[in-house]
Amino acid sequence: MERLSFAIDAARKKEYDLVVCGGGIAGCAAALEGARLGLKTLLVEKTCLLGGLATIGLVNYFVPMDNRRGRQICRGMAEEFLRLSIRYGYDTLPEVWREGEPEKPTSVPYHTGYDPNLFAMLLCSLLDEAGVDILFDVTAAHPVMDGGRITGIVTDSAEGFSFYPARQVIDATGDASVAAKAGMPTADGKNYFSYFPREITLDSCRDAVSSGRIDRAIRTVSGGSANLYGGGHPEDVPFFFGAGDGTRSDYFVRNQKIVSERFASGGDRFSRMLVMAPMTAQFRTIRRMEGDTVLHEEDAYRHFPDALCTVNDFDHADFLYEVPRSAMTRRGFDNLTVCGRAVSADGFAWDIVRVIPPAILTGQSAAVCAAQAIAEDVPVAEADIKKIQSKLESEDVMVSFDDSLVPESWDPAVRRHVDKR
Ligand SMILES: Cc1cc2nc3c(=O)[nH]c(=O)nc-3n(C[C@H](O)[C@H](O)[C@H](O)COP(=O)(O)OP(=O)(O)OC[C@H]3O[C@@H](n4cnc5c(N)ncnc54)[C@H](O)[C@@H]3O)c2cc1C
Repeated sequence: MERLSFAIDAARKKEYDLVVCGGGIAGCAAALEGARLGLKTLLVEKTCLLGGLATIGLVNYFVPMDNRRGRQICRGMAEEFLRLSIRYGYDTLPEVWREGEPEKPTSVPYHTGYDPNLFAMLLCSLLDEAGVDILFDVTAAHPVMDGGRITGIVTDSAEGFSFYPARQVIDATGDASVAAKAGMPTADGKNYFSYFPREITLDSCRDAVSSGRIDRAIRTVSGGSANLYGGGHPEDVPFFFGAGDGTRSDYFVRNQKIVSERFASGGDRFSRMLVMAPMTAQFRTIRRMEGDTVLHEEDAYRHFPDALCTVNDFDHADFLYEVPRSAMTRRGFDNLTVCGRAVSADGFAWDIVRVIPPAILTGQSAAVCAAQAIAEDVPVAEADIKKIQSKLESEDVMVSFDDSLVPESWDPAVRRHVDKR
């Protein structure tokens, strides 16, 4: 590869304790937590709405946050954000969970749909009121390194390049782009042909009116309709690997042609309208960091001494996973923590930690780790884990699962989830 070397004339801006790169759901959690902990916090988001895939990506569904036996696993800020997402808009919350954890065991999942644009705007108000400085339409272009430390982030916008000095940095870009540019080892993900814009039709409007449910006015249009496990991926379409520019562009061109051809191929043009298109690639796993620990699917019901949060497998009851700090940090990178869907987990474990509730929890946890590292003036991987865990517990995060939650028939030697991909 040709290496170009040039000096960037970047205007030096205000110094922050914490710079969070990426305002997806994980970055929102990290920035909010940072501000609540009293850190001067900057959130840099390259688009113009917060929430990432969970809003502009049109993924408007909190996967189940329970163990399918009536116990809520994803708590803390995952609970706060779920409730915020449905505060003023529609929901699909099961009644049994409406007032919180049910008194009796239930197999009804704790999940909900929500209005993505409204949620994005509520997140913006929440963060702004908490004191987060938000930069919209600005890209976190590059970390500036001094050995194993990031001294700050160079941003790129219409104004030009700017340099924001930072004591701690959180990579919440969803594709580990800050970590990769800092020199941290990363791994690429494989993606199927999934693209789901939304339409309204006269029929869907009638359905909405007759049911009194506005969410029924909007329906999914299937572009590439591959599912989580790759079912429906067309034989003649390549898989989409990694973060290369061409990968996403090829995906968008192919999918958008399918959708426009579908509309061009017939139907009364006064009866339907394409109202929302994903403003980010609907790729599940683009690229992730290689942390000091890589979480595996076989780590279900395993305790980690440096656990930060416990999450549940949304697709299979009843598997719980502790996410250790060492899956979000790497020694040699003193002030960088990765959260959200780019944390260090492989195979189906990557799927388990990347969805909305775990992404929120790793974001919240990342900021607590950053604050403790600042307080002790030590690398983030070495900050006092007990203090971090007790802070997270005080915020109602399930740091470690209680052994009473392990199903009676659980046999760690038996891998019960069959990978269907
Ligand atoms: C097809 C599909 C279906 C899914 N279905 C569900 C579901 O039903 N329920 C569920 O819970 N989860 C689902 N998920 C997963 C879930 O939506 C995401 O994994 C989760 O929202 C990821 O959040 P994140 O904050 O880690 O990353 P992202 O949402 O990717 O957020 C990253 C943010 O960083 C910004 N950014 C990136 N680079 C930069 C930069 N250099 N500078 C500034 N900003 C930057 C982006 O604009 C974005 O806002 C689905 C995912 C896909 C693809």
